[in-house]
Amino acid sequence: MDNFSTGSESNVESLRGRRGFEVVEHDITMSLPLSLHADLIFHLASPASVADYLSRPMQTLRVNSLGTLALLDLAQADGARFLFASTSEIYGDPYVHPQPETYWGNVNPVGPRACYSEGKRFGESATMVYTREYGLDARIVRIFNTYGPHSRPDDGRIVPNFIIQALRDEPLTVYGDGSQTRSYCYVSDLVAGIVAAMFGDLSGAEVFNLGNPDEYTVSHFAQIISRQVGSTSGVVHQSLPEDDPTQRRPDITKAREYLGWEPHVDLATGIDRTISWFRDVLRLSEPVA
Ligand code: UDP
Repeated sequence: MDNFSTGSESNVESLRGRRGFEVVEHDITMSLPLSLHADLIFHLASPASVADYLSRPMQTLRVNSLGTLALLDLAQADGARFLFASTSEIYGDPYVHPQPETYWGNVNPVGPRACYSEGKRFGESATMVYTREYGLDARIVRIFNTYGPHSRPDDGRIVPNFIIQALRDEPLTVYGDGSQTRSYCYVSDLVAGIVAAMFGDLSGAEVFNLGNPDEYTVSHFAQIISRQVGSTSGVVHQSLPEDDPTQRRPDITKAREYLGWEPHVDLATGIDRTISWFRDVLRLSEPVA
């Protein structure tokens, strides 16, 4: 189920016709179809890139609050297992580094990013209330920066921005002085982590960080992308978005221990695959001469 507000139907095109697969276009903040029943619910519905949630603050707040409650009600009614996709953003601008699941975070509740960070914090709280009050079988995953093929070229995230800019031989837009850090997880590793969390044999509701612990400054990351694309266009500095976290790196000890999960795709491999994807996207979008 997707309302395709930030996603694209073309991403599930190859699954059409597969036995047991159905895609329903629906916004989960509107009442759910009565015919809907579930054994497992993966709740990933939400704008997730900074540019997307800043331009859709109401939708972001509603899908993570009202939408989460609606899916929790469905899970409870059907006795389904429930997985909530949370985010590293719930750690805000962290004082503890790297971030373990036990860290409560440092979030600005009234800043522009709060529709997402506080929306996700509400979603986590709601999930835990349902486990305590109704014995719901639930898992929460906190997803750190993820990249790979099938992401939107214009979603505003660092990886699509830098790769597209490098491919067009434009300067890479480094926000602020570029000393802030992020850790980048390739999409197939993330998917394996989500599946492991859903199907893991756990005795109670558990929270897991999912991400790649290799950490890079934004400036260093710009150099890596330029080198891999073969671009010499350099960088241009632009203003740092408000409340942009200064450092971020997951502590994945718990996921390793409980789920036997860790990322396997190294940055060079993942970035190469992503560059090929965006190369094809650009080629297709260019007018034929
Ligand atoms: N960033 C940047 N240039 C861009 C896009 C992002 O310097 O064109 C920086 C941004 O300021 C942040 C980091 O890259 O420090 C990751 O940004 P992104 O929007 O991908 O995800 P976030 O971690 O902020 O949710």
